[in-house]
Amino acid sequence: MLEKKLNGTIIVTYRCNARCSMCNRYKAPSRPEEEITLDTIRKLPKMYFTNITGGEPFIRTDLKDIVRELYKKSDRIVISTNGYFTERIVELAKEFPQIGIRISIEGLEKTNNEIRGLENGFKRGYDTLKTLKKMGLTDVGFGMTVQDRNAKDLVPLYEISDELGMEFATASLHNSFYFVESKNIIKKREIVAKNFEVLINRLLSSNSPKKWFRAYFNHGLINYIYGQKRLLPCDMSFDTFFIDPYGDVMPCNGTKDKEVMGNLNATNWDDLWNSKKAEKVRKKVRKCDRNCWMIGSVAPAMHKYIWKPAYWVLLHKIKNFLGIKYSMYENRIVCDLRDGIVSDFELDKRSTCDLNAVAKNGLSKASQEQLINKNGEDIVDADIANQMGRDYVKKL
Ligand code: SF4
Repeated sequence: MLEKKLNGTIIVTYRCNARCSMCNRYKAPSRPEEEITLDTIRKLPKMYFTNITGGEPFIRTDLKDIVRELYKKSDRIVISTNGYFTERIVELAKEFPQIGIRISIEGLEKTNNEIRGLENGFKRGYDTLKTLKKMGLTDVGFGMTVQDRNAKDLVPLYEISDELGMEFATASLHNSFYFVESKNIIKKREIVAKNFEVLINRLLSSNSPKKWFRAYFNHGLINYIYGQKRLLPCDMSFDTFFIDPYGDVMPCNGTKDKEVMGNLNATNWDDLWNSKKAEKVRKKVRKCDRNCWMIGSVAPAMHKYIWKPAYWVLLHKIKNFLGIKYSMYENRIVCDLRDGIVSDFELDKRSTCDLNAVAKNGLSKASQEQLINKNGEDIVDADIANQMGRDYVKKL
């Protein structure tokens, strides 16, 4: 019998050098001594897809060793990064030219640098992507978290990625312990949705089936920002998992508090995956009403329930052929808001935004203790300065 392969995301560190306005993870870093080791990585199951993320994964100086180990058990690896550590990324790409790299760019230069809090962020990220492309890497692209501040840059950024022949992955604002955030929300829903609508039509009129399915994903993002039920079921923790820097295996990164199926440092994969604790988490997932629409939970669902996006794509390709464009008003809720049947206030209440909540951060006790007299930014800056030399902090 064929061995079942899973979809895994490895959060190799919670340290981050960016200062994104929609994510407070940089304030809550993990301690390097506690971060996931090669021994724990060796215990992971076979995977058809692995995403390596952080924090900023390239802060780890042993990332190459991690990737080498993961290629023994994964068919495809994609690293999500802010693209700041160009030399490290290029070095890694030399050894693994088949690797996928997604660099988070939040809009054109000014918008990106404001949102990500990296003074040279756009230039560094963009130059890194171009360098990777020149080296012959094919699986490279942009990742953009669309929000009120950058929605106008969505289509121009897509056009840049298209001209360069790169992938273009989108997301929108979410709240969770992983982002150490509970107050993210889209306020100008119609404006944001309008920009998604333009992007969806560009994607649908392309000749790439991959882009047609991306159009469906973006259609799902409109549905998400209007606080609606997910277009597809969420099966996280059934054939998909996340593992955090401490070796805790979790269903996803969208929960309010950290949900732990077991700790892989302390046991082996099969015992953890088949444990009662893991089963308990799966029961919670079945009842989860957070309705996230992030690629990590949607891509596996799109594969599993392929007929649903496939039907949508077919319908819209036929319409496109007949000259009928996709309209955001195909989503009933978009009409309801326009027509005053529902108010923005009501939609806000359906979102995961909670202005009174204190966001959890999922840190270990030791990582939390290092924050008693210092802030996370200073700890990580000192850490990187130590790795790279004193000029690092000046560059920021
Ligand atoms: S909807 Fe899915 S991805 Fe989101 S928090 Fe719930 S279980 Fe996790």
